[in-house]
Amino acid sequence: MTVTSVRVAPTACPRCRSATLGVVGKSSVAGVWTIFSCSTCFYAWRSTEPEENVDPEKYPAAFRLRPEDLARLKVVPPVPRRRPSL
Ligand SMILES: [Zn+2]
Repeated sequence: MTVTSVRVAPTACPRCRSATLGVVGKSSVAGVWTIFSCSTCFYAWRSTEPEENVDPEKYPAAFRLRPEDLARLKVVPPVPRRRPSL
C-alpha cells in the first residue's frame, strides 16, 4: 500500500470513472488534503489516501461500479433505530 499526495484535481471517479466530481472538504491547513466526492456513485476519498483508493487504474476491479448498472442495484438497507440507553 502506497500513500500518495495528489496535487492535481482528479478527472475521474476511482470507483465508477464518471467525471461528476466535486470538492467537499479541504484541510484547515491549506494544501494538506482535499476530500472529493462523486455524485454518480457517491464514492468519496481524500487526496492523501493510498493509490488504490484514488487512482481509477489502481482501484480494485472487484469493487468497481458501472454507472449504467447503478439504477438496478439493490436498495441499501436502512440503518436501524438507535437502541435506548441502558
Ligand atoms: Zn463514482
